[in-house]
Amino acid sequence: MDMFDMPDFDAHERVVFGYDEPTGLRSIIALHSTRLGPAAGGCRMWAYASTAEALTDVLRLSRGMSYKNAMAGVPFGGGKAVIIGDPRKAKTPELFQAYGRLVDSLAGRYVTAEDVGTTTADMEQVARVTKFVSGLGRRPGEAGGDPAPRTALGVFLGLKAAVRFQLGRSNLQGLRVAIQGVGGVGYHLCRLLAAEGAELRVADLQPSATRRVHEEFGAKVVSTESVLFEEVDAIAPCALGAILNGQSIPRLRARIVAGAANNQLARDSDGDALHAAGVLYAPDYIVNAGGIISVAREYYGGATDAQVAAEIHGIPARLIEIFERARRENRPTHAIADQMARERIGRSESRKVA
Ligand code: NAD
Repeated sequence: MDMFDMPDFDAHERVVFGYDEPTGLRSIIALHSTRLGPAAGGCRMWAYASTAEALTDVLRLSRGMSYKNAMAGVPFGGGKAVIIGDPRKAKTPELFQAYGRLVDSLAGRYVTAEDVGTTTADMEQVARVTKFVSGLGRRPGEAGGDPAPRTALGVFLGLKAAVRFQLGRSNLQGLRVAIQGVGGVGYHLCRLLAAEGAELRVADLQPSATRRVHEEFGAKVVSTESVLFEEVDAIAPCALGAILNGQSIPRLRARIVAGAANNQLARDSDGDALHAAGVLYAPDYIVNAGGIISVAREYYGGATDAQVAAEIHGIPARLIEIFERARRENRPTHAIADQMARERIGRSESRKVA
């Protein structure tokens, strides 16, 4: 495995592998760019099948964070961490403290927070050994805490903007939305959509998660195999990445994709295919920036929860700018967003070609 030749290596500034024998920690931290501030992005815990798979994920995710942070206007560069292990079985306080020491060894070049497989409680353990962590418990009214509800707010506002742009509708009454994954973000997205009268179809690998949104919001539970291909107006991928690919795109029936999952496009060419098929794709890192906005304000301090919410309300304007430019130039939305983000971080064209 030669990292420098991997397709997802994109001139990352630093990639650190950490191992801690007593706790069994195996972690990789990737700093894609620190041009706009310390590299920030969550820590994902996942039972990766191999180190190569984990490395690919952290390279892709950290580049996405550079784009996300630059476009959200927060004073952060882009980074990400992964811990190799099953979050349902391998978590211990000591493991997260060992991870915290690894973060601390980077002396503030990387700021961590929670992501898939990690929680506010895990970050509290990290915070025992390093100050370079955000997404911790907060007092009421203070900015920060679990970023998932904030991410959901941004996705909700972005989805509404996409509906206005693509369907010319200004309310969500009866709008059919299929949500893949109703965990931290997906649950709150369901709550916001249901409150405005949207008709929800949901799928999750965890039956307890779908049961909850069925009971609380009347969501119809569909299978994990069919959720992306339901006859709906919009789909909101809120589980894992790479779900928009050569197999799935020809089967989509929705005209809008707007969801929280990072790296939804398996390859750049999949964004081209969505564009060709007339599907409006809301670039993931634009609509899912609510969480990092919250994390940034918590980390730097001094902001209130209301200020964070106000900043998240800026997401639709950014999205509309991308949609309008894409329409004017007849180019895919992801290409427009990537170009704008790379300009902001001072990088030339991505070397990713696929
Ligand atoms: P989560 O782990 O709380 O929830 C994800 C849910 O998806 C889980 O309930 C899981 O069972 C389900 N899932 C996994 N694979 C699935 C599949 N194939 N079909 C259906 N369901 C499946 O994670 P989260 O915090 O809600 O994040 C969701 C996505 O949004 C992730 O891609 C994450 O990287 C991204 N994201 C999250 C945040 C945040 O603030 N939490 C911010 C930005 C981006």
